[in-house]
Amino acid sequence: MRELMKQAIEIGRKSIRLGETASYIPELGRVNKNQLGISIFTTDGVRESVGDADVRFTIQSISKVITLAIALEKCGFHKVFEKVHMEPSGDAFNSLVKLDLSSNYPFNPMINSGALAITSYLTPITDFEEMLLISRKLCMDEAITLNEDVYHSEMNHISRNKAIAYLLESKDIIALGCVPETLDLYVRMCSLSVTAQSLAGFGLILAQDGIHPVTGERVLNENVVKIVKTIMFTCGMYDGSGEFAVHVGIPSKSGVGGGILSVVNQRMGIGIFGPSLDSKGNSIAGNHILRHLSKELNLHIFS
Ligand code: GLN
Repeated sequence: MRELMKQAIEIGRKSIRLGETASYIPELGRVNKNQLGISIFTTDGVRESVGDADVRFTIQSISKVITLAIALEKCGFHKVFEKVHMEPSGDAFNSLVKLDLSSNYPFNPMINSGALAITSYLTPITDFEEMLLISRKLCMDEAITLNEDVYHSEMNHISRNKAIAYLLESKDIIALGCVPETLDLYVRMCSLSVTAQSLAGFGLILAQDGIHPVTGERVLNENVVKIVKTIMFTCGMYDGSGEFAVHVGIPSKSGVGGGILSVVNQRMGIGIFGPSLDSKGNSIAGNHILRHLSKELNLHIFS
């Protein structure tokens, strides 16, 4: 496994120069784009990491998976999907065009509009401290904290998400007056500092349908995990989800911090860190790495 992971890193490394870090959040623009790490935790207890797998970076949109899972647990299916749909959008993660023109509801929970709506359902019943504790548990990583620099950097460049949130308020999807606290919780969740290893840990819990591999405790409801994995598969790589499903075929979620969380059902969790991004905001090296691992280990959902 280790040799294959090293090989995958070398394949991924070749594409780094073709991408860029996410400079629309200035603090992310300062990250060294040449970093690359993979971590794999399997259901039979193997834990392997290569490269920069213990380097901390911000989780960004991968937090949308945690937020969705918590909202399904706390608010239930009906509330979560009453005004947020479950269809791929085919548009950029921060687009608001169709939200206004062709649909009154966010397309899915994995893009900003959907995640903002779902975050707003959580603000009256939980807070960042509780979400942080749950995130630590789900990632099996007690060292997760808020990256204050990234949090402030994003809050200072929040116009687009603010526009989305107020559009949602105008459509009665976010309750009147709740936009500021929704944006704050959303950006805090995006600014959690994780590692490729943390993502592999979370991936393993999802691969095991919500069972913690060490304690044997059920940390997420089985049906919640089923919904989360399905939406990761259809929508997790934004407007690159279809191509990714064909070539990789593993439910995954990316973030503009360079992380990818992947779940191979009943087999393993994979975490990747590679902050050089393609035009859709997905880790460019991560994409190549996952293609290689999927082919060599037969990880495609339909293989
Ligand atoms: N915090 C980022 C944003 O809202 C997350 C986006 C992402 O990771 N694609 O723009």
